[in-house]
Amino acid sequence: MIQPPATLGLLGGGQLGRYFVEAAQGMGYAVWVLDPDPASPAGRVAARHLCQAFDDPDALQALAAACEVITTEFENIPRPAVEWLDAHACLRPGPRALTIAQDRLEEKGFLGEIGVAVAPWQAVPEGATPDVQTGAEGPSFPAILKTARLGYDGKGQVRLAKAGDLPAAHAELGQVDCVLESRVELERELSVLVARTADGAHEAFPVAENAHRDGILHLTRVPGGAAAAVRERATAIAGHIAERLAYQGVLAVEFFLTVDGKLLVNEIAPRPHNSGHYTQDACTVSQFEQQVRAVCGLGLAPALLTMPVAMVNLLGDLWPATGAPDWRNVLAAGRARLHLYGKAEARTGRKMGHVNVLGLPGEDDAGAAASAAEALWQGLADNVEEGMA
Ligand code: ATP
Ligand code: MG
Repeated sequence: MIQPPATLGLLGGGQLGRYFVEAAQGMGYAVWVLDPDPASPAGRVAARHLCQAFDDPDALQALAAACEVITTEFENIPRPAVEWLDAHACLRPGPRALTIAQDRLEEKGFLGEIGVAVAPWQAVPEGATPDVQTGAEGPSFPAILKTARLGYDGKGQVRLAKAGDLPAAHAELGQVDCVLESRVELERELSVLVARTADGAHEAFPVAENAHRDGILHLTRVPGGAAAAVRERATAIAGHIAERLAYQGVLAVEFFLTVDGKLLVNEIAPRPHNSGHYTQDACTVSQFEQQVRAVCGLGLAPALLTMPVAMVNLLGDLWPATGAPDWRNVLAAGRARLHLYGKAEARTGRKMGHVNVLGLPGEDDAGAAASAAEALWQGLADNVEEGMA
């Protein structure tokens, strides 16, 4: 068991990292963050910010020497750095989980091997574009071509109406390694966060229901509208994946529930997740404290919902050309909890913060909380439009 005041290491310095740092430092640990961005949200609150590239040998050496355990908030850490850290320090989650989650081809292969259903797919390797595989297992159209590595928030994806569109789509993505998958008809999107420790204990958070806009998470509600049996199945699949990875830390699993009732895994993330931000205000433990507990080998806290909740993301689109949004309506609503990441520059599509809107204890769904969250979000969007008019 790693006890405070030990120093913990963190790869990546975004908002997920910032909340990990706050949770850990609140418990008496010190956290060192490695991130090349001088304005990194986590770096600014950490005991030490190593402002260097993820594969900088001196930085990796310093991290390994100072930290009793090193974890991540970002999956795209170069493979040699992951392997070096695994050999010279205690890295949790380990290299297998990180390399699987950073490559959609490996991810789909792994999920297939352990019997987890995914959307029908085929590999589209780097270089010459192959023909589309037809048949029961292969993708159907409409389809989506996704780069195997480095995609996020819907980036690195092209939609295809028919097989003949593949060469142009592959060219558009630079003919890198890709996955071609059927575009499934969604009833809902769900996600599950599960924490697991080295001794095999695991604890899942309640299932979240997610709505996206332009490929970026917009609103999460808990509880969502999926049937209890579906939620149980999603929770069991997330636990199975964590188990088969011998996972240590917090793992996020994104699901598609299709209109014909299939529950498919979309992707996994080896870290806390945007769709788990609701845990900050509406659970018995946050995903970030649970990550601290899991990677330090502490007992996992019960991860129970205390009241219905909806989380809405605040993207840079909501920022006026100069200054900051007018937060009055958000701040005046006591059930709305504002979280801002301290990013100086607001760009379109950039995640700047989120609001968790609490429902009432005893309400059995998050419908009222979701409507209130949407209304606050709409108010902020209207302000930007008026500012431009
Ligand atoms: P993030 O990192 O934000 O989760 P990402 O870039 O990794 O995003 P995906 O999760 O693959 O991208 O896709 C983003 C969204 O696009 C999904 O949540 C879903 O709404 C839609 N989408 C992706 N793949 C499919 C598919 N095969 N069928 C239907 N919708 C899809
Ligand atoms: Mg996703």
